[in-house]
Amino acid sequence: MSDPRPTPHLPTRPLRFGTSGVPDSAPKPSSEAGIRRSRELGLDCMEMAMVQKVTIGPATAAKVRAAAGREDVALSIHAPYYINLNSQDAQKLADSQTRILAAARAGDLCGARNIVLHLGFYHANTPAETTDILYRHLKPVVEQLQAEGSQAVLRPEVMGRLSQWGDLDEVLDLCAALPGLLPCLDVAHLYARHQGAYNTYAEFLDVLDCMAARLGRVALDDLHLHISGIAYGPRGERHHLTFAEGDFNYRDCLRALRDRQCRGLVIGESPARERDVLLLKETWVESEVEL
Ligand SMILES: [Zn+2]
Repeated sequence: MSDPRPTPHLPTRPLRFGTSGVPDSAPKPSSEAGIRRSRELGLDCMEMAMVQKVTIGPATAAKVRAAAGREDVALSIHAPYYINLNSQDAQKLADSQTRILAAARAGDLCGARNIVLHLGFYHANTPAETTDILYRHLKPVVEQLQAEGSQAVLRPEVMGRLSQWGDLDEVLDLCAALPGLLPCLDVAHLYARHQGAYNTYAEFLDVLDCMAARLGRVALDDLHLHISGIAYGPRGERHHLTFAEGDFNYRDCLRALRDRQCRGLVIGESPARERDVLLLKETWVESEVEL
């Protein structure tokens, strides 16, 4: 009998939902256990949190890849936090480039295509200057990966703190300038960065339309979205919250994704990851009737 499960990365539903990191209820904190647990929970993707260091070796990566294929769970990778492509320190800059390469190569081994990146801080530079500096320092990394035949899609993330490069227009500028890059749209960060704006159906549609206008329809056909509740202050993001604790309007966000026929991965980053991701997925499934 042929295997009825679909090929990984070709979702039967437009959006796949999954946790950031291994689900809490997995029997062990390994990626393989996380993939199996995701499938048991009815989740279709998982973001591997390599936020301290990329440590996965080829043998483990092969097992992870096989498990993801078997369970039809699409994988992505969150690259290390210790990346700053606007560092004045040549060593830190080189280390940052090395970490991005390592995350992308790990992605190729595991079959994780989307590689989420925090690219850096403004320091004394203007947003436009910073985008330009990041472009210059990321370009050789992209070219190296292309020369290696990498399948990785680097995803600069929309960031939540005002000191961090990564407002939506900056991320879109960089993605438009460097072919092959696509955004990681963190809707909670965008909301926190703008003091609670970007929280209505009309604003979510604006964001999606803006992405499509700058990058083409691919931006919505191949979306990578982070979502959670979030607390913010005058300098933007403070910390993530559950949907129940915060007032992030995930229902209208999902409604906008549905109405723009978005496809891709939705990664839940709330402190109650599984519960909130399952809430999203349930809301989404219901939304196919009415939201
Ligand atoms: Zn992130």
